[in-house]
Amino acid sequence: MAEYHSPVLVREVAVLAHGRRRLVDCTVGGGGHAARLLETGGSLLAIDRDPHAVREARAALPEGCVSWLNCSFAAPEALTCISRLRPDFVLFDLGVSTRQLEVDERGFSFRPGVPLDMRMAVGEGPSATDVVNTLERRELARVFDEYGDESRADRLAATIVRRRQRSPLTTSDDLVNAIRAALGPQTGPADFARLFQAVRITVNQELESLETALPAVLEALAPAGVIAVISYHSGEDRVVKRFFHEWARACVCPPRVPVCSCRGRALGVADPRKPIRPSAAEIAANRRARSAKLRVFHKSDAA
Ligand code: SAH
Repeated sequence: MAEYHSPVLVREVAVLAHGRRRLVDCTVGGGGHAARLLETGGSLLAIDRDPHAVREARAALPEGCVSWLNCSFAAPEALTCISRLRPDFVLFDLGVSTRQLEVDERGFSFRPGVPLDMRMAVGEGPSATDVVNTLERRELARVFDEYGDESRADRLAATIVRRRQRSPLTTSDDLVNAIRAALGPQTGPADFARLFQAVRITVNQELESLETALPAVLEALAPAGVIAVISYHSGEDRVVKRFFHEWARACVCPPRVPVCSCRGRALGVADPRKPIRPSAAEIAANRRARSAKLRVFHKSDAA
């Protein structure tokens, strides 16, 4: 099989991690970024909710200075470990790995004949089949609208609901056919990718996990520590941007409060202010890089 995953913005991440001693990789995947993080000579806590990823990365990385957790980075177990560690560098490289997309049995792909599954934590919680067959019409429409930027989300949700009354949607073909029936025969791979991704975000509660983890990680971070987040779609990036902006504000009182009664100081800075994007050369070499945005938050040394 091809390479597990080729990491995005790896040089930029290595520069940020330089000289750091207690590192956390919240999404270790195939261990590409983790291998670079270990070049700092520091110790690493490696987390992934996918047991296959943990097995793969464990085999690829040197023993000794890595500790492992196979759970979501938003799970209480992970947040407790991170908090005890008081890390000075935490990386999130969100979304799915190339390997997860490639293996048909994992059910992420819109290639023909793939079971609708999409669970990163194999076998845990509702699958994509459960989501498309049980979510109410309105909720399904919200998923395609909010996570899939689909302007005809209502029509797609109604089509799915009509079809599942005849027989449940269980394979990629069932969902692809529903998309084609609802949105027209001109729909193609880009639409399938976008709408399958919307289902995946729901199945794995991706935005909720990020919203739970980010504030807890900031709290756990050592003074002058760094959080680096690589996101791959606008929903994720919006969450990261909102937190980083909020943390960087000196005063968080509502506009009508006459005297500042809040913490009154920024918790750190988002630097650079704009996200870091991969170079044209990196995008040409690695398709997954094309939508990547790296945002970096530096916690204040007084925090
Ligand atoms: N940086 C990695 C690739 C990461 S791909 C490398 O260099 O190889 C994204 C990984 O994040 C996947 O393995 C996926 O299972 C994991 N993941 C996504 N959401 C997660 C979550 N909430 N908790 C833990 N792992 C998560």
